[in-house]
Amino acid sequence: MEDTLEPQKKRIRGLSTVTKIAPSRPVTSALNTVPQTQGQTTAPKVTKKTGPRCSTTITTVLKNQKPGPAVPTQKPGAATAPVLGVKRPSKRPAWDLKGQLVDLNAELRCYHEKTQTLDQENQQLREQLKETQQQATALGSKHRTLEEELTRLRVQTEHGQQELGNLKAHVLELEEQLGLKEGLVQELQKEQLELQEERRRLATRLEDQERRLQASEAALSCSQVEVASLRQETAAQAALLTERGERLHGLEMERRRLHNQLQELKGNIRVFCRVRPVLPGEPTPLSGFLQFPSGPNGPSNPPTRLSLSWSDERRSTLSGAPAPTTRHDFSFDRVFPPGSRQEEVFEEISMLVQSALDGYPVCIFAYGQTGSGKTFTMEGGLEGDPQTEGLIPRALRHLFSVAQEMSVQGWTYNFVASYVEIYNETVRDLLATRTRKGQGGECEIRRAGPGSKELTVTNARYVPVSCEKEVEALLHLAHQNRAVARTAHNERSSRSHSVFQLQIYGEHTGRGLQCMAPLSLVDLAGSERLDPGLALGQEEQKRLRETQAINSSLSTLGLVIMALSNKESHVPYRNSKLTYLLQNSLGGSAKMLMFVNISPLEENFSESLNSLRFASKVNQCVIGTAQANRK
Ligand code: ADP
Ligand code: MG
Repeated sequence: MEDTLEPQKKRIRGLSTVTKIAPSRPVTSALNTVPQTQGQTTAPKVTKKTGPRCSTTITTVLKNQKPGPAVPTQKPGAATAPVLGVKRPSKRPAWDLKGQLVDLNAELRCYHEKTQTLDQENQQLREQLKETQQQATALGSKHRTLEEELTRLRVQTEHGQQELGNLKAHVLELEEQLGLKEGLVQELQKEQLELQEERRRLATRLEDQERRLQASEAALSCSQVEVASLRQETAAQAALLTERGERLHGLEMERRRLHNQLQELKGNIRVFCRVRPVLPGEPTPLSGFLQFPSGPNGPSNPPTRLSLSWSDERRSTLSGAPAPTTRHDFSFDRVFPPGSRQEEVFEEISMLVQSALDGYPVCIFAYGQTGSGKTFTMEGGLEGDPQTEGLIPRALRHLFSVAQEMSVQGWTYNFVASYVEIYNETVRDLLATRTRKGQGGECEIRRAGPGSKELTVTNARYVPVSCEKEVEALLHLAHQNRAVARTAHNERSSRSHSVFQLQIYGEHTGRGLQCMAPLSLVDLAGSERLDPGLALGQEEQKRLRETQAINSSLSTLGLVIMALSNKESHVPYRNSKLTYLLQNSLGGSAKMLMFVNISPLEENFSESLNSLRFASKVNQCVIGTAQANRK
């Protein structure tokens, strides 16, 4: 009996377990936990199962739930009676089919109820599932939105990072610039400091200057008062100066007149005799051959006389008696014995140079035999030796310095130089430079213009000069040109006349005065005659022609001077190139000076005598009262 009842008990025990989750227990509280646990969606399937197995599953499910509201735990025996309502007999006999049927019905009802309960639960769970699915859908869409948002934010972040990169680069750049600017700022600050220092220094200086300025202003105001009084004084002095200027001009004119008168008293034609010293290697002449007796004014005065004594030794040997000495006495305006310095000689003629500046034509000749010292007198000795400088450079220096002095009185002077050579009646320019075409050839003497009295030499250079250096250069050039000629024509220079001419133009613009005069310095050709005993070879014949030309021109010069002296109507200027060229420097208002150069040697006695005779003749001439060539 016990054994038959056992399965029944078991079933009741199982059912009693089910009753523990009777409908009195709130289902929702148990189901509410479903979404929280994975895999609980299988819970509804439980309902399909039957029997105690199914009950066990539910119990397991319910075990995982939080404890619900307190459900009074029923004692195992007490619970079964209300569920089945039937107290089942522990074991119905086999024959009690009816009883068994009743039991089975009761059991079936119980199952039926249970099924209903499970259906309800299932329904609730379905609803919950639906709700959960909706929530999941909502969450899904929210998730997508959030993902989109995330993507957008990522893109934004990328942009931001890119921008950040750019900004960082920019920041670096700016930092670099900042560094540069800071360096600049430091430099500027340094500069500013320096400038401030400079400013301070300048301010100090300014203060100093201002102080000085104030002192100067005070001095200035004092000076202004002084200036005002000085102005008055100056005005008075200016008036005095004008008056004195007038007087000075009057005096200058008077000086010119008196100077000229003095020159006229001395003679418009003057002759100076110069005896050169015996040169090294030359025989010393007998004492008494040349004497310089004192003049009428006594020995203290410069000598004006010269005696040449000569005894013919050949005659004395023939007769046996001592030869009588012939003495030739000459008297000139001045005699320069050997040893006279160039400076002394020039002193005597400086007055004539002044006359040239005053507007009177002046002509100075050097006459004498070759080797008597003409060139030495005119041009000088060694080039560059100031002691032996000749008349030409000295005269020009004097002219330049006097012209300079006269510029104070309002006179301005211009000088134009020319230098030509007359050889065998042909004229050649001594200032010719090879660079200029047509120069150095033959020249012609022509009037400067129709009706003009002025003469010019065609093809010759007329060089304006204003200082010594320029004159020196011209003399040097002439010297070179002569040296070239010397090689071609043996000693041509001594056989030709050298004519240095200086045109002097003076002007006083304030008074409208002008003066113009030529100063001519002529180194004449050797006056010696040709030895008649010489054999007439080809060279000698040429010499003879040269000598004839020289003699002719020198005698023409004598004749011209004579004609002027005798105031003859015809003056034979045209008879020689020399007199033709010099016609404006001779006669009338002109002043003439002739140096007769003498050799101290006995062997030159004859030529010396000739020269002295010629010079004496000239010395006897008096050319009419000179008129200044003034406009
Ligand atoms: P000229 O020109 O008359 O032919 P120079 O002037 O050439 O003569 O003189 C001939 C030589 O005599 C030259 O060597 C020159 O230096 C010299 N002489 C001329 N006069 C003097 C003098 N007064 N003092 C010194 N030497 C002179
Ligand atoms: Mg000479």
